[in-house]
Amino acid sequence: MPRPIVATIHLPSLANNLAVARRAAPSSRVWAVVKANAYGHGIERVYPALRDADGFALLEPEEAIRLRELGWNKPILLLEGFFDDADVALLGTHRLSTALHCEAQLRMLEVLAPAYRLAPRSLDVCLKLNSGMNRLGFTPSAYRAAWQRLRAIDAVRSVTHMTHFSDADGAAGISEQMAVFRTATRDLPGETSVANSAGTLWHTESRTDWVRAGVMLYGASPSGSWQDVQDQGLLAAMTLESKILAVQALRPGQSVGYGSRYVASDTRRIGIVACGYADGYPRTSSSDLGHYAPVRVGNHDTRTVGRVSMDMLAIDLTECPEATVGTPVELWGRHVPIDSVAAAAGTIGYELMCAIAPRVRVAVEPLTVNPPPLQDGHRAADRTHSFLR
Ligand SMILES: *Cc1c(COP(=O)(O)O)cnc(C)c1O
Repeated sequence: MPRPIVATIHLPSLANNLAVARRAAPSSRVWAVVKANAYGHGIERVYPALRDADGFALLEPEEAIRLRELGWNKPILLLEGFFDDADVALLGTHRLSTALHCEAQLRMLEVLAPAYRLAPRSLDVCLKLNSGMNRLGFTPSAYRAAWQRLRAIDAVRSVTHMTHFSDADGAAGISEQMAVFRTATRDLPGETSVANSAGTLWHTESRTDWVRAGVMLYGASPSGSWQDVQDQGLLAAMTLESKILAVQALRPGQSVGYGSRYVASDTRRIGIVACGYADGYPRTSSSDLGHYAPVRVGNHDTRTVGRVSMDMLAIDLTECPEATVGTPVELWGRHVPIDSVAAAAGTIGYELMCAIAPRVRVAVEPLTVNPPPLQDGHRAADRTHSFLR
């Protein structure tokens, strides 16, 4: 029998979450962001559920090519643009759209587009403005000149104005960056794309021609706090589940796990679960670090105790008398928000979902064949495709 830890990818949840993004930004087209192997969910797995997107956005040309091989014909955007000369050739052969964020990329494209004979008017570019986040992008003063040079390249068909927010999920908001963006792009023709998930969900002014929905598609909160999104209709796209391997009865004063960091103050029933940090479960949620993480056992919500070790963690079963060896435990998913586990570990859901370890077996909940009718006249996700494993 295989080790009982399984990550289940819920394709109906992914399709639902894409519909939530559409509902939030009804006049925008949606880039479904599938970088980092679809935030750890697997590009091939999520593809059937996200085919209703207007485009896919990611980082590596290799992942873009995987999407083309799956039969995706619509746009694919390289969010950091191309990395070297060979990538520029791939833009042509695989019809990839690209972000362009710096002088070196602009120079490369000016030289290589003619050298590689990219077809005239074939390339769609998102020109990135640094509106205040200060990671990537042309400064406002350099932006216009970059736009003009880009327009002068024969292979370029369209230039979309793009920027990225540092605080769309926080108190500072987006208004300063939006003001910089508007000023820098004033009078320049072209579509715009500024919103990430947080912008899509929370900032009307950022819902422009294209939104770039990432973490919301996977059913987690851009802010790291599930409370912030729990009314949006998002559903967890991944459930991490395992089983109880052993049950220990602790007497007062006895401890469990490395370092004896959890000491029972009274009689405690402890479950040992087949899940550890080598599966991608965060060790920093260990209760001796001042935290514990929520888990679900049957219908009971309970919590981790003591240190998370490589292959196991301990949970308090005192209030779950029927739980025994073999009882399933939800580490995160439908009942336990991944955001809440992440918060216990001092991080955000993004990091946990991306860090699911290769040794964890993956199951896929397929799309339902007869979907319930969608409300509000939203476009149905394409649910007719059989799922991939
Ligand atoms: C990752 C990324 C996104 C998506 O961000 P979420 O917070 O996951 O929605 C959008 N735009 C760019 C440029 C990104 O790199």
